[in-house]
Amino acid sequence: MTEGDKILLTEYLWECFHEWDYFTGSSLICRKCKVSANHGHNRTFTTGNDLLDLKDKMVEKVDWDEFFFWAQKYFVENVPHVKYSWQMFTHWLLRPETCQLVADWLKEGTC
Ligand SMILES: [Zn+2]
Repeated sequence: MTEGDKILLTEYLWECFHEWDYFTGSSLICRKCKVSANHGHNRTFTTGNDLLDLKDKMVEKVDWDEFFFWAQKYFVENVPHVKYSWQMFTHWLLRPETCQLVADWLKEGTC
């Protein structure tokens, strides 16, 4: 996943993609939202929690159905050697790697 994809997904979640600066000593401050931290970080979009947060935000923004059917079409057209079934599709969808699929969907501008 590119840095641009991480920014896109973070902003989709209505969160700040922090840009860390040194504040005092070893503590850091984000130059955009002014939050401070000892260890600056941003979401990696490599975890199940990131995916669940994206899913919750898609539901909140009423984007879920559109993404779900887009992902289903993607699965049918791009996942080789797997015969489509609801079970196989949802098994494939509910993985941290689906964060990349959400970024691709957003970049396609279907929402
Ligand atoms: Zn910030």
